[in-house]
Amino acid sequence: MKAMNVATARLDPSGHPTERWAAEELRRLSELGLRRQLEPLQSAQGAVIRIAGKELVNFSSNDYLGLASDVRLAQAAVVGLRERGVGAGASRLLVGDSDAHHSLEQKIAGWMNSESALLFNTGYAAASGILPALCGAGDAIFSDALNHASWVDGCRLSRATTAVYPHLDLAALDRLLRSTPGRRRLVCTEAVFSMDGDRAPLAEMVDLCRRHGAALLVDEAHALGVLGAHGAGLCEELGLSGEVDLRVGTLGKALGVFGAFAATSRAVTDLLVNRVRPLIFSTSLPPAICSAAGCAVDIAADEQLLRSRLWRHVQRFCDGLRSLGIPARPDSAIFPVLLGEPDQALQAAQRLRNRGILAKAIRPPTVPPGTSRLRFSLSASHRPEHIDLAIGTLAALEKSLVR
Ligand SMILES: *Cc1c(COP(=O)(O)O)cnc(C)c1O
Repeated sequence: MKAMNVATARLDPSGHPTERWAAEELRRLSELGLRRQLEPLQSAQGAVIRIAGKELVNFSSNDYLGLASDVRLAQAAVVGLRERGVGAGASRLLVGDSDAHHSLEQKIAGWMNSESALLFNTGYAAASGILPALCGAGDAIFSDALNHASWVDGCRLSRATTAVYPHLDLAALDRLLRSTPGRRRLVCTEAVFSMDGDRAPLAEMVDLCRRHGAALLVDEAHALGVLGAHGAGLCEELGLSGEVDLRVGTLGKALGVFGAFAATSRAVTDLLVNRVRPLIFSTSLPPAICSAAGCAVDIAADEQLLRSRLWRHVQRFCDGLRSLGIPARPDSAIFPVLLGEPDQALQAAQRLRNRGILAKAIRPPTVPPGTSRLRFSLSASHRPEHIDLAIGTLAALEKSLVR
């Protein structure tokens, strides 16, 4: 029988086995409404983008300050490119390190008010690399149930005991901290949650961690540029910059560039340089990207105009949603409109899109089953008319949106 199977497999006209695997999996994803597709932009990132020849008002980027296509960043990158070329050529631990990397790290440390900062190629690489560098077998990581996939992977790769607590449930976190031993214990949370836009109660979490002798790590991905007097995030806004062990941020969202960082103590930075595998075994960021990011940090820290424009949009959009009976809070630049099943979210997104509004459907595994949604993210690059158009379109579609 076995021999026959091998023979039939060889005769399979579909060729490579992987093509069959792919066809099976893709069919399953399509049936569940979970298939995803790439959609190339034919324009720069911005409030209005072009896809498949159609202009759409864009509510799906994380370009909160509208810096992704800012000419000042492009100019900084061009200067860097002329001076240093395109590629870094090696890992930072070989010859891929440069003064551009170090001056950006210094600038970030000053901005974040931390002793030290360390660059990573992406937020994903930072999250999946930092947890295994800090914790291992015999340690315990406490992770919010809605933490980003990169932290989930970091927990898995670390081999530490992972205790997942219900989203923002500090009583449950307290119980887990009481009942879960570990040589080293670390609590990991997002500051602003990427798909819900709500905030972690960081002051209470600092207290809780202190009482239990646990470290606290905060991912500021969706708070950087948006919260804090200088846009340094929720910790800055709450006056907690000195209380948190590690803050992680991405340079790819509000900063409009690419890359990521950890802001922490000198000792932890030194350990990360020695232990983070995605830092050791990966080509470093191009120096020109560091130049552009340095320019972005200056703008994000100093240009209050962009931040205040964003917050006016946040309030306007929030008021608009509430006027439609859709629950909303002005906590961040992210507004979910919950719909339930993947097909409901896909259909709602398509209806909006037919009227020129792009708010992509967010489905599992990005969000838990039964919570598929539209996710609107606002940007300083929007104009008030864009906000009004989105609300007006939602109002027109309200009945068909199934609520
Ligand atoms: C986007 C995101 C990341 C990953 O950052 P990249 O630089 O885009 O890889 C990490 N954490 C959160 C919460 C995010 O939303």
